[in-house]
Amino acid sequence: MNGFQRYLTRSLPDELARLTELALDLRWSWSHASDALWETLDPELWAATGNPWLILESVSRDRLDRLALDPAFRAELDRQLNEREASLSGPTWFDGIEGGDDTGTIAYFSMEFGLSESLPIYSGGLGILAGDMLKTASDLGVPMIGVGLLYQQGYFRQALNIDGEQLAYFPYNDPAMLPVMPLRNGDGGWLRVTVELPGRPLQLRCWEARVGRTRLLLLDANDLVNGPRDRGITGELYGGDTETRLTQEIVLGIGGWRMLEHLGLAVSVCHLNEGHAALAVLERAASYRRANDTDFDLALRTTRAGNLFTTHTPVPAAFDRFPPALARLYLQPYAEQWGIPFERILQLGQMACDGDSDAADMDFIPAYLALRGCGAANGVSRLHGEVSRRLFAPLFPRRPFAETPIGHVTNGVHTPSWDSREADRLWTRSCGKSRWIGDLAGIGGGIREIEDSALWDFRVQGRQAMIEALRGRLARQRANLGAPAARIDECALMLDPNALTLGFARRFTAYKRTNLLLADPDRLARLLTDTNHPVQLVLAGKAHPRDANGQAMIRAWSTFIARPELHGRIVFVEDYDMAVAATLVQGVDVWINTPRRPWEASGTSGMKVLVNGGLNLSELDGWWAEAYAPEIGWAIGDRGEHDADPAWDAAEAAELYRLLEEDIVPLFYTRDQAGIPRPWVARIRESMARLTPAYSSNRMLREYVESYYLPQTRAVSARQAHRSQLGMELESWHRRLKNHWSRIRIGDVSWREDPAGWLVDVQTYLDDLEADDVAVELYAEPDTCHRLERVEALAGAIHGYRYRGRVAADRAPGDYTVRIVPDHPAASVPLEATEILWQPRN
Ligand SMILES: *Cc1c(COP(=O)(O)O)cnc(C)c1O
Repeated sequence: MNGFQRYLTRSLPDELARLTELALDLRWSWSHASDALWETLDPELWAATGNPWLILESVSRDRLDRLALDPAFRAELDRQLNEREASLSGPTWFDGIEGGDDTGTIAYFSMEFGLSESLPIYSGGLGILAGDMLKTASDLGVPMIGVGLLYQQGYFRQALNIDGEQLAYFPYNDPAMLPVMPLRNGDGGWLRVTVELPGRPLQLRCWEARVGRTRLLLLDANDLVNGPRDRGITGELYGGDTETRLTQEIVLGIGGWRMLEHLGLAVSVCHLNEGHAALAVLERAASYRRANDTDFDLALRTTRAGNLFTTHTPVPAAFDRFPPALARLYLQPYAEQWGIPFERILQLGQMACDGDSDAADMDFIPAYLALRGCGAANGVSRLHGEVSRRLFAPLFPRRPFAETPIGHVTNGVHTPSWDSREADRLWTRSCGKSRWIGDLAGIGGGIREIEDSALWDFRVQGRQAMIEALRGRLARQRANLGAPAARIDECALMLDPNALTLGFARRFTAYKRTNLLLADPDRLARLLTDTNHPVQLVLAGKAHPRDANGQAMIRAWSTFIARPELHGRIVFVEDYDMAVAATLVQGVDVWINTPRRPWEASGTSGMKVLVNGGLNLSELDGWWAEAYAPEIGWAIGDRGEHDADPAWDAAEAAELYRLLEEDIVPLFYTRDQAGIPRPWVARIRESMARLTPAYSSNRMLREYVESYYLPQTRAVSARQAHRSQLGMELESWHRRLKNHWSRIRIGDVSWREDPAGWLVDVQTYLDDLEADDVAVELYAEPDTCHRLERVEALAGAIHGYRYRGRVAADRAPGDYTVRIVPDHPAASVPLEATEILWQPRN
């Protein structure tokens, strides 16, 4: 009996026992090869749930016994098992990189993980990114472990009623039917960890899901030993009140870290996907403090170098925030355990800086704690990096925005999870089977060699397959509403496999402007009813149950869809989830995205169409702001920000229609004698070749490894080595800065012109700071900075020094300001030391 089988509540014929290994490894969610196996077992359940584990639990014994005797099935099973073993044991990209051997575990914390629709513990982009990260870690061999929550209900499920209004359901997830296993401790018992809630402990059960080479560890509170109220803490994702959210964040951050400790995992980098798990940085510090008998500040100083914070937030209103009294109620007990005053925890999460008088009333914002507790931080596209630098600038007072210490790694998608079976074949033929598990070099070349006719055939097949899948789905939607048979049968004729198909699916919320395309309903209707150049539109998306405006937008679309002349030309697919997304991105010709810049931090759905030959038409926001080029897609927007200006919305809507009417539709219907739209196909080829690798999670994760995980692993182990020697040095450097900063000053600054430019001479008085504690710089707008050289001590002064530097003659001395900033070769400034002193301006 193999290790996995004990999780099954039934027994399988011996010959098929190893099916459990396959069914419990979510690798099936991106391996097209295994689809056929599950389909053979139970085609209906496979189509309805996409959940092999459920199939194994449900399929009849009779069917299993017959398959156990079927040589073809058994040969296929063996082939799959061998393939799995080979893929798990073979060499990986990570094996080949320098410094990889010494990397410990990368713990990836996220409030949601979107690995498959059959594990519904995600709501949207943030979760799917997390799922794609784990899958890619498996592909590339990166030693990552996911940490998340196992929700009993997760995010709400959507249906539309007969009037087209959204209904929200919260069906219960039976954990026994999910592809997860209880996590056992050393003696075989179910691993539980405890966190403290006011006046009571909360027991958390631990689970694991296999994701190829990596694992996702999950916590849930639905344990009989907890009180009835507490058992619901991990019920809904993004549901409940502020208090529930804070408890969930305690469970994720503190409980999550404790779970990793119980398992004895040597975590080097703790990666926070958004601020929800920020408390993990404090628990990590606390556990370092216990193990090394240090004080808390030293422990945080030492461990923070190994924390990475990825922010996804484009506006301050989107930050989670907790009133200080609520934070005190929940975090006071931890303050005692951690050996720090509660006020210190509060301050780490507040906007205020030292000395602000109204600090006591300011909210506790986990994203701020995350930034103050990390060794590096990043946004999720180039533009979002800039936006984040502005957003977090208040934490770095008197610094230019551009110096806010937040970089960016543009998101990507796990290509093998989003390609269609046909796309997989096409790409395998042109770029080989291992194309997504190496370094992507040379991928574009293979695609550029595919002939027009082959590309166009592939596209047409993709559209056709999507339409067939949608017809079935729409029929089920109507059946669920109790529609008469004739109305259900109509679905078999909906949508035209030869028509230009536009797709639009996303969360219905104001900033996504999910009704921009509906700004002029008659104009849109004209586009959709053109008999010469037919156009059709496929829609999907949920509105949060508390977002009245989002729901109103769904209603507006429903009203539009009900127009008789649009019958069969526009459809709304209910319950947008990963399965719906996969269906759509594999078939649409043009994927539309109309957010209000700069509120789409990255956006990833448009990246999912790339591998399938779909093209993008999008606002120049998020990833598209850096990916767009005229020969690969279409763009609206002027790269400016216009907030929620209705006049601007109207102008962009007009531009959207114009692009569709004048560019996109005519281009799609410009055919040669063979019926091929050559210029359209040229765009497909360019978009596939150029953008698919660039916006893959393979490229993204390699960036994280090279720019963050490896350097941060080195940084944190350097701080920990020799009983935290470097950590201590940094901590006392920091204390010195705090104590003396207010008394340092810049004295005379003199400029002299010489043939090579300007020479500057600066006198500084550093109070009791060591000269090496600081750097003296010349700064000029917008981002010029020269470090000055220390030449000598000033005669007759204590810690007074003369600095000198030379700048080119192209700028006047008046452009420059002298400043003093903290400096230490092992510290990240200003992330860890926000002090700055500017030369007084007179
Ligand atoms: C990819 C995906 C998203 C994220 O899409 P955006 O581009 O951020 O709108 C949301 N929901 C589902 C189901 C997805 O598959």
